[in-house]
Amino acid sequence: AKFVYDFTEGHRGLSGLLGGKGANLAEMTRLGLPVPPGFTITTAACREYLRTGTPPPALRDEVSAHLDALERRTGRRLGRGADPLLVSVRSGAERSMPGMMDTVLNIGLSDTSVRSLAAQTGDERFAWDSYRRLVQMFGETVLGIEGDAFADRLADAVAQAGAADETGLAAGQLERLTRMFQDLVCERTGRPFPQDPREQLDLAVRAVFDSWNGPRARLYRRQERIPHHLGTAVSVCAMVFGNLGQDSGTGVAFTRDPATGQQGVYGDYLRNAQGEDVVAGIRNTVPLAALERLDPASYAELLRLMEVLENHYLDLCDIEFTIERGRLWMLQTRVGKRTAAAAFRIAVQLVDQGLIDEAEALRRVSGEQLAHLMFPRFDSGAAPAPLARGVAASPGAAVGVAVFDPARAVARAARGERVILVRRETTPDDLDGMIAAAGILTARGGKTSHAAVVARGMGRTCVCGAEELRVDHAARTATTADGTVVREGDVLSVDGTTGRVYRGEVPVVPSAVVEYFEGTAPPDADDLVAAVHRVMGWADAARRLGVRANADTAADAARARRFGARGIGLCRTEHMFLGERRALVERLILAEDDQGAQRALAALLPLQRADFRELFSAMDGLPVTVRLLDPPLHEFLPDLTDLSVRVALEHRDEDVRLLAAVRRLHEQNPMLGLRGVRLGLVVPGLFAMQVRAVAEAAAECRAAGGDPRPEIMIPLVGTVQELEIVREEAEEVIAAAAEAHGTRLDIPLGTMIELPRAALTAGQIAEHADFFSFGTNDLTQTVWGFSRDDVEASFFAAYLEKGIFGVSPFETIDTDGVGSLVRAAALAGRAARPGLKLGVCGEHGGDPDSVRFFHEVGLDYVSCSPFRIPVARLEAGRAAT
Ligand code: ADP
Ligand code: MG
Ligand code: MG
Repeated sequence: AKFVYDFTEGHRGLSGLLGGKGANLAEMTRLGLPVPPGFTITTAACREYLRTGTPPPALRDEVSAHLDALERRTGRRLGRGADPLLVSVRSGAERSMPGMMDTVLNIGLSDTSVRSLAAQTGDERFAWDSYRRLVQMFGETVLGIEGDAFADRLADAVAQAGAADETGLAAGQLERLTRMFQDLVCERTGRPFPQDPREQLDLAVRAVFDSWNGPRARLYRRQERIPHHLGTAVSVCAMVFGNLGQDSGTGVAFTRDPATGQQGVYGDYLRNAQGEDVVAGIRNTVPLAALERLDPASYAELLRLMEVLENHYLDLCDIEFTIERGRLWMLQTRVGKRTAAAAFRIAVQLVDQGLIDEAEALRRVSGEQLAHLMFPRFDSGAAPAPLARGVAASPGAAVGVAVFDPARAVARAARGERVILVRRETTPDDLDGMIAAAGILTARGGKTSHAAVVARGMGRTCVCGAEELRVDHAARTATTADGTVVREGDVLSVDGTTGRVYRGEVPVVPSAVVEYFEGTAPPDADDLVAAVHRVMGWADAARRLGVRANADTAADAARARRFGARGIGLCRTEHMFLGERRALVERLILAEDDQGAQRALAALLPLQRADFRELFSAMDGLPVTVRLLDPPLHEFLPDLTDLSVRVALEHRDEDVRLLAAVRRLHEQNPMLGLRGVRLGLVVPGLFAMQVRAVAEAAAECRAAGGDPRPEIMIPLVGTVQELEIVREEAEEVIAAAAEAHGTRLDIPLGTMIELPRAALTAGQIAEHADFFSFGTNDLTQTVWGFSRDDVEASFFAAYLEKGIFGVSPFETIDTDGVGSLVRAAALAGRAARPGLKLGVCGEHGGDPDSVRFFHEVGLDYVSCSPFRIPVARLEAGRAAT
């Protein structure tokens, strides 16, 4: 195999082999852009190294050959001669990975070549600055010496020289600093800083390989579901210098504004600086537009190249560039990250420019981005200056009182207060407090910190790494850089979408996108809404999956319809047994004889019928899937402990009887107990009453000129016999109701598939079911053997942190386990009954990744909460392109 590709040999299609960075460097080289020459060592070489512990034997010679070619092309030799060649060694995996090794610049400098470099450029200061950077970066990233050891010495040198920053250090001072760095290396590693350029290169390449398995990189991959076996590529690139004086510099640029999507000149530039300085934020950059004045020729050239890149990649590109004494070099490009709003705007702009088609536009946005645009947001007009800024770790707008420890957060939340948990950083011990909080704010940590990961997993608003805050847990205060103190109980507003934190309560407004879906804002309300409107149109035209709503009330049904639902996929009937009706359920449970039970059911019937009539009218002409009563009966009874106390204190007869019933119905494991179809089979008349209410409501709606389309769904079926019995009874009840109303009622009777046994015997069950609806919440619980209500607070955070889950299986369907049961049951069901209608109800129906999976499995529709319907429509459209 070939382990090394020259930049002239690769292209962007090879990112699996050359990494994203290497592939795009090759692509730019092919396009004729000014990229310093170089070559890329493949991920295959890394994989072999990781497997065997030594670089592949052929690699050394291949690197030598490419190095020779590079030396011939540049007319210079690595770290030798009067004009020494220097290179950078850059890591680059297929998907960019924070937490991997950084790049080492200026490889090839040594005690000898630093003098040649000084002589050749006529800039002694520059030469020593470059050398001290090499020893520092090499020491840190290749030799593993902690960065502070270097940073402290650098800070001391700057202070001693009385300079503002390191650019104020003179050549001699930099030379002394370099020697100090070298001493540090010697002291820590027991070996002098390597003087042989090839040895430097080989060690750096090996360090990049090793960094693939660093703890942070491994954790990141588990969380992001990036396979561990891929390995990283290593690019070796001839150095160009932005730190050669005022006519040199380095910068980053975007072809469009990554925040808003507007076309224009966006980026930052730093004069007389090398690589990392811009992103590290140590010195103040100037906006890219200022380059027009500083160096008009390079600026014009940059704009030209940006256009070339956009027209080639047909998307927003971000770019790293360096200007060496007035000459522009491109050092990196990739299709750039962008905000949710920018993604929609850019997709539509590119369609309008004729650069991409509508299907491609759908691929450029995501349901997750749409969900972001639907969060309520702080009213920017009413927001004061932010108190602090941090990383926008988990979106949303949360207002609450600042609390500095988890136990107090739990206590205050229990009193009904909305709480913002403020911590230096969070640990698994903080979990209770995080669950109780409306928002989480930390002073340390980035997007993959504990706080960020857990908050995203739970859907809590979170800003982390607000570094200007000094959090004192003992004093229960947070202090800003300018000395403002936040104490426990002070109100904070935390914006997880922008990373801003405000003092006091900032008013919240619904997002314009939601107002558009609600029909209260027109499709051309603003350019973002207009973009969303068009993209939704393309998605609806493309999708094959139907989208229904989980809705139990007429109000929810009406909203769902406005949001684009075509029917109800899950109407839970349990809420119809709550409130004042609880008393009737108590009577049903306590009935001493059949007559008593019948009386209680007869009292419930008209109430249920009225509920259904309203619902069928709200969804007139569209299917409404009614699920018969599912939860265990004891949920409708008083709590065992409360009732015991009451009986002990008051000795009332009916309480004593009630207590006996509560004890009788008490279950250790109610999730796996008397519920669903089991209830229907042991509580006489219960399901019959519900079916009758559905049938009569339908008949009444029909008589009133409506077009009701009810479907009846039996929950928690594990075996076909259960379904047969319930079905037989239901058919009789429906026939009787139809006859009584002198009408015909075609009410499909189907079942939920939410137990592994049902999925495994789906063929048998399909013989007696008009449709299946996968209840993926219960199916997830029963396949994994854990209860959602219990585990999210106990061990899920630990599992997320360890990367066992990238995301909770209740949020995104576990395709390997739960998903393969869904797939098998869908196949078996359709084999037994061709054309069997298949849907899914449960949280997964509104989750982007899950929707894609349900499309692939061939379901007919997904059903989700009204608010997720636009997300499901968009993802269904994307899945179909
Ligand atoms: P990252 O993946 O962290 O962006 P890079 O490999 O892109 O790492 O390099 C870090 C910085 O060093 C970037 O600013 C890049 O432009 C700069 N850099 C890398 N190689 C060279 C080079 N050959 N000449 C000059 N600057 C370079
Ligand atoms: Mg880079
Ligand atoms: Mg269920």
